Amino acid sequence: MKITRIDQFSPRPRTRLIRIVTDSNIDGWAESTLEGKPKSVPATIEEYSQYLIGKNPLDIEKHWQQMYRSSFFRGGAHNMSAIAAIDAALWDISGKYYGIPSYKLMGGNVRDRIRVYGHWGLKDLSDESKIESKKRLEKLSKLGYTAYKSGPSGFWRAHEPPSRIDKFVETAYTMRDWVGPDIELSFDFHGKMTPGLAIELCNEIKGMRPMFVEEPVPQENADALKLVSDHVPFPIATGERLLSRWEFRNVIEKQAASLLQPDVAHCGGPSELRKIASFAEIYYQHIMPHCAIGPIALAACMMVDAVTPNFLIQEQVDQSLGNGLLKQDWKIKDGHIELWETPGLGFEVEEKEVEATYEGFEYGYHGELGGETYYENDNSVADW
Ligand SMILES: [Mg+2]
Repeated sequence: MKITRIDQFSPRPRTRLIRIVTDSNIDGWAESTLEGKPKSVPATIEEYSQYLIGKNPLDIEKHWQQMYRSSFFRGGAHNMSAIAAIDAALWDISGKYYGIPSYKLMGGNVRDRIRVYGHWGLKDLSDESKIESKKRLEKLSKLGYTAYKSGPSGFWRAHEPPSRIDKFVETAYTMRDWVGPDIELSFDFHGKMTPGLAIELCNEIKGMRPMFVEEPVPQENADALKLVSDHVPFPIATGERLLSRWEFRNVIEKQAASLLQPDVAHCGGPSELRKIASFAEIYYQHIMPHCAIGPIALAACMMVDAVTPNFLIQEQVDQSLGNGLLKQDWKIKDGHIELWETPGLGFEVEEKEVEATYEGFEYGYHGELGGETYYENDNSVADW
């Protein structure tokens, strides 16, 4: 079997896809989205296609090694996202070639279904926000969710007055009151706090028993993250912006976080996600793969979740259930998605939908991420 070409599509906002085509009537699909950078990953994939065309798609590890090492300039978000997409598509092809789900080729599943969490929150304590938030909670719990993630909204300076902190704390406790003690709630600080402020906020909310706080500080400095972890009595998570084992190394070895969130579409694909998880296993850390894009990336995450003993829960946003791109949406029952039994990554694409081209407002640098963000009082750049 040989790879004959790689097709690329961008059918939705925040959705770039690849199809690796072979000479054996087997295609592999993957998501190549790097949010806010719609042109750079497709260009990198185009460059890698010069190496891949004519090669056997079943040599997954060899191709990973070749792409990672022959680049000479290793790592980087564009490069690792391109490798990630190619790697996932090759796992899809391999499963289809052998006629089994791709997770069976990675050691076989250690669980039968994948626990997921959705995004739900209470923006503020106004009546309007409460009504809106209650409606969404009702909708999500009807869909089958039993775990949610939210975040403190807005920009946060190095420190904030008590009124600002109190509002967030009250919101967190209100959410706990609404859902009761059987539902898990967590918060994403989105890397926009300083260690001191993050420690203060985490200690204020510890009584409502969060499942975890994510990215209390930005991702670059494992020592700053460890400072937070050492002063907080519940799990701290990080990793959506860390790429490959080498970037996770400090966080894992310093035990700066107990929950790791590699993004399968950015960290080097299912092959690399599996290795990061194995590395973390020796420190009793668990993975909760980040997935804020679409249903094909979710499949690549779940392939690894299925075979990983130290997996805790899978992130999953509304659009990743299907978004019109799959013939059958992923379905949640009792907080879990059942593993598939069909060959490959377990989905069939809606050809017409995936081959469409989207060029609307929400596309690209300003549309897909936070846009330009500044503090109101002095117009300096703020993290969102
Ligand atoms: Mg996050």
